[in-house]
Amino acid sequence: MRTVDLIRKKRDGEELSVEEIDFLIQNCTKGVIPDYQLSAFLMAVFYSGMNDNEATALTLAMLNSGERLDLSALPGAKVSKHSTGGVGDKTSLIVGPVVAAAGAVVPQITGRGLGFTGGTLDKLESIPGFRTRLSVEEFTAVLRQHNLCFIGQTDQIAPADKKMYALRDATASIESLPLIASSIMSKKLAEGFDALVLDVKVGSGAFMKKQTDARKLAQLMVVIGRRMGKRVQALLTDMDQPLGYAVGNALEIMEVSQTLQNSGPGDLTQLCVELSARMIMLATPGQTLEAAREQALSLLASGAAFRKFQEVIAAQGGNTDVLSQFELLPNASSAREILSPRAGFITRINAEDIGQAAVMLGAGRDTMERAIDPAVGVILERKVGERVTEGGRLCTLYVTDETQLEDAAQLVEDAFHISAAPPEARELVLEVVQ
Ligand code: URA
Repeated sequence: MRTVDLIRKKRDGEELSVEEIDFLIQNCTKGVIPDYQLSAFLMAVFYSGMNDNEATALTLAMLNSGERLDLSALPGAKVSKHSTGGVGDKTSLIVGPVVAAAGAVVPQITGRGLGFTGGTLDKLESIPGFRTRLSVEEFTAVLRQHNLCFIGQTDQIAPADKKMYALRDATASIESLPLIASSIMSKKLAEGFDALVLDVKVGSGAFMKKQTDARKLAQLMVVIGRRMGKRVQALLTDMDQPLGYAVGNALEIMEVSQTLQNSGPGDLTQLCVELSARMIMLATPGQTLEAAREQALSLLASGAAFRKFQEVIAAQGGNTDVLSQFELLPNASSAREILSPRAGFITRINAEDIGQAAVMLGAGRDTMERAIDPAVGVILERKVGERVTEGGRLCTLYVTDETQLEDAAQLVEDAFHISAAPPEARELVLEVVQ
């Protein structure tokens, strides 16, 4: 088999066999395919696409390029969740404790934020002492004892994806459905779960701006998961405005704590209950969705989910006092209020711009190498559909380094669209793909 023949075959729109895809990915992992050939192959996939068989074979080959966790020794169903990323999306930190408190095992390998979207790993690392680099033995021990553990991605998980993602980034071939789906699912499947709920975000603050594209991605990831023998559902959810009020790492931990104590923002709570219910349902054969929703709500109301989060933070070395004494979290040194230029209804809050402004303040990174400031970010004071008076507060920026403050403030002010008439209500859960 020769790499050049496989590139030609894909370029001409033909189907690659499992053996041919394995050959490419194994040689990519060994480092014996030069970058120019791998880039050409990725561009051929970008233009010619892949059918479900090829996308599944690609996912399995990338998964097998690295380590995968074997959680079969742990009793009970293992269920995970994955979000395609958004602004203010802290759902994993709420859903994980709810589902673990319901009795399922929740292994979460989490990522860092990149670009305007935040990452669960960065949020957790704003908790003093919290360790996300655990050995496989430590990870399994925390899961066995507490049903939930959060660790970071390692170089040993799907190394072929790491290499291909870097090349796609540098050669404008990121936006390909089979490449995105196989990249996400190969890393996710390494967690060793039985069931998975995918939260595919749609809108200005998401990777997928259009619902039709998000639907196709969700369908492909569900197909790949099923073919690997997993129970999988996907929700398409609104990311046209930030989720909740807080955007920025320590600020989001505060909102997570409030939500787990049943006093969080309505949209965030609603989405977390829906995601948790679907995870509980997939983990518990015979459970109805309605009963699972009730269970999720009652685990929030009783404080059981909050106690689970406290347990897991303590087990991973974090200071649990931060959940009630927010001053123990990293704090910004100053704040800037953004006031409304006129009275009216908020009709839109461009989530990407809010995310970009948070990055400018230091809450996120443009490149993987950039260090972040856990203390800074944005707290919205108003959400879409709410009224604001002239001079009323739209949001507050929490700042440590003022270098880009003026630009960030301008971006945030422009992100709010205000008009005399209220907007049409938009659903939070747009569609279910199962
Ligand atoms: N996230 C991933 O992990 N991979 C992609 O290709 C796109 C988003």
